[in-house]
Amino acid sequence: MTDPRRRIPRVDAVLADPRLAAVTGSLGRALVKDAVVRAQQRARAGEIAPEEVVDTAVALLPARATGLRPVINATGVLVHTNLGRAPLSTAAREAVCAASGATDVEFDLATGRRARRGRGALAALAEAVPEAGDVHVVNNNAAALLLTALALAQGREIVISRGELVEIGDGFRIPELLASAGARLREVGTTNRTRRADYAEAIGPDTGFVLKVHPSNFRITGFTAAVPVAELTGLGVPLVVDIGSGLLAPHPLLPDEPDAAAVLRAGADLVTASGDKLLGGPQAGLLLGAADLIERLRRHPSARALRVDKLTLAALEATLRGPAPPVAAALAADPAGLRGRAARLAERLAAAGVPADAADSVAAVGGGGAPGVELPSAALALPAAYAEPLRTGDPPVVGRVERGRCLLDLRTVDPADDDRLADAVLAVRAAREHSCT
Ligand SMILES: *Cc1c(COP(=O)(O)O)cnc(C)c1O
Repeated sequence: MTDPRRRIPRVDAVLADPRLAAVTGSLGRALVKDAVVRAQQRARAGEIAPEEVVDTAVALLPARATGLRPVINATGVLVHTNLGRAPLSTAAREAVCAASGATDVEFDLATGRRARRGRGALAALAEAVPEAGDVHVVNNNAAALLLTALALAQGREIVISRGELVEIGDGFRIPELLASAGARLREVGTTNRTRRADYAEAIGPDTGFVLKVHPSNFRITGFTAAVPVAELTGLGVPLVVDIGSGLLAPHPLLPDEPDAAAVLRAGADLVTASGDKLLGGPQAGLLLGAADLIERLRRHPSARALRVDKLTLAALEATLRGPAPPVAAALAADPAGLRGRAARLAERLAAAGVPADAADSVAAVGGGGAPGVELPSAALALPAAYAEPLRTGDPPVVGRVERGRCLLDLRTVDPADDDRLADAVLAVRAAREHSCT
């Protein structure tokens, strides 16, 4: 008898299969070949028959030429940094797609000349916040702070309250970020209490600006005092406020979350914010404020290193001009509607033999803002053992395990994804049944 491994087809022969040839154009030869080689290895290991190599290679093909997978966020955390923060609106996704080829990002089609880069997005931002004399957009909020420190306080001092020395996440700290720009931090007040006089006493000829940082991922409660923006004006130096979350106007459900318009009206000279938190857009750093300060930032040599690409500008403009993004919809979702969805899903899955219930839940904005704000929500409750196979399934569904159950919180799930969510749960149930018999 001949060794079956001798019958394993060669790479070129497998690649000639019409199904594999067809996807080579969209995936590229290297990824298709990689799937073929892995199928051959399985045949060599005796896991599949040589005749199954082609079908196995087709099954092993990645869906697209990136390892990043679209995930269903059922964590109940609206702005989940590990899941890419704000999901883009359909309008923003389409804008990204349209701008992804050659596009007039820095070109005036009417005159045939160079034009201001990203003018559409900048105009949309300026219109959204008329209080701002001018606006600028950089890579993220950290970049906005870095550029501000470089342009206004390199070799000088930034006056900041000890209660606002914030760590953003992943070990990155705002004080260290500012120091890396060559600015010296002049800390004033204490962790829990800082007064206007503390700031006033620290200001001198070396002061570049006063910085207020919104504590967007923690809360200090008890015997506390922070100085409101309005009381920090008139100190003779620019007042820069990092509002974090990127709300441009007040949000009725988040009364404690600062917004750019109100902070500028209160007298801030410059506001910095993220684009991909509560604004619901792409990763970006928004700078809004006095026209002369914005001009100094724009003209600083480092501005070029922090500038955003055309895809970001396209997504930002569509987020500002288009329909409300998913983050806004998730914030606004009414709890009764969420409970109804949970009940319908639970009923449908229970009928198919899944031990599923509808449960009340509490969703959160996340590290992106509004710490401590609890958003009443509803979840599909499953046995905890479902969490891992759901996460590693297709599409991956990320929930949270709480009180011994796997909760899939519906506030962060687009209602249009409910069917896909149910199918993912049914797939887990089918696999479990299979492995138990
Ligand atoms: C999130 C946050 C940052 C960092 O913003 P990125 O856009 O992630 O760079 C800085 N400051 C505050 C107050 C924040 O909340």
